[in-house]
Amino acid sequence: RDYYVGVDLGGTKMLAALIAEDGSIIAKEEIPTLAKQGAEAVLDRLGSLIESVLAAAPGGRGVVRGIGVATAGTLDTAKGVVTLASNLGWRDVAVASVLSDRFACAVRLENDATAAAVGEWLAGEGEGSPDCIFVTISTGIGGGIISGGRLIAGVNHNAGELGHISIDGNGMLCPCGNVGCLELYASGTAIGRRGAEHVRRAAESAGSGGALTRLAGGDPNRVDARLVAAAAAEGDAEASGILREAGRALGVGLVSILHLLNPQVVILGGGASHIGEPLLGPMREVIAERCLPSIREQVRFVSSALGSSAGAVGAALLMVRDQK
Ligand code: BGC
Ligand code: ZN
Repeated sequence: RDYYVGVDLGGTKMLAALIAEDGSIIAKEEIPTLAKQGAEAVLDRLGSLIESVLAAAPGGRGVVRGIGVATAGTLDTAKGVVTLASNLGWRDVAVASVLSDRFACAVRLENDATAAAVGEWLAGEGEGSPDCIFVTISTGIGGGIISGGRLIAGVNHNAGELGHISIDGNGMLCPCGNVGCLELYASGTAIGRRGAEHVRRAAESAGSGGALTRLAGGDPNRVDARLVAAAAAEGDAEASGILREAGRALGVGLVSILHLLNPQVVILGGGASHIGEPLLGPMREVIAERCLPSIREQVRFVSSALGSSAGAVGAALLMVRDQK
């Protein structure tokens, strides 16, 4: 049997998995990305992570046919370079050559959300549907599009940058250069940022601040999306309001995406998608209000089956496909 390594290199975590040709996972490990340490350090630690999952290869690492890397940001897939990844703070980082030098095998880059779309399509929740979209709500917001039974990659594999669709032409400036990008309002980072602002204001006004402030111990730096969700679950009205606004922003973005592509299935993944109803309820509300009925009535929303492994599985399966 042939084996592949699939990697998902995200803004917060990186995951490596040993994957069989059918997409099944033999072994996997995950560590924090620690993007602030810089690209060289991140790639070095990624190399050690890959070493570690290779140790599980039946028959030794010689049976590994290639490494598929799913990474946040825009790419030059032909050169194996990450051209711009705002959530990693990277510009023109040659990921593929670093890994192919170290492991002496083929390395293929794909966008993290596009790879996850392929993973879900071929081995997860999208199974069987020729028209499915994957949306990840994580550090950023990303997407992957399967339309008419084909992956829509675009001319240089950068199609599906759903997080950088503008929902406010006069909105906040995004590191990508656009303004009002969806991910500035609805990503895990955005939810955490709004929560931190609230805790900071509560500290300044010497108010009680509610459950979120208590859970954060009064420290805005400790607030992330997970903490906002925990506070909302305890009935913190401010935290629920933050999730509601993020969910509605997500709905606004999705209406445009639905109108563009008329999909059958939308698969939601990424850490912040696990917040569930407090975020997704308001999203569905906006879709019910604003989406064309003939498009809305066809679409089903499901959560990712492969979870945090989707990108790694998809990156490996794309490599399998390339080698056939
Ligand atoms: C990046 C995308 C990525 C998404 C999720 C966005 O900021 O531009 O390429 O898929 O974050 O990681
Ligand atoms: Zn943007």
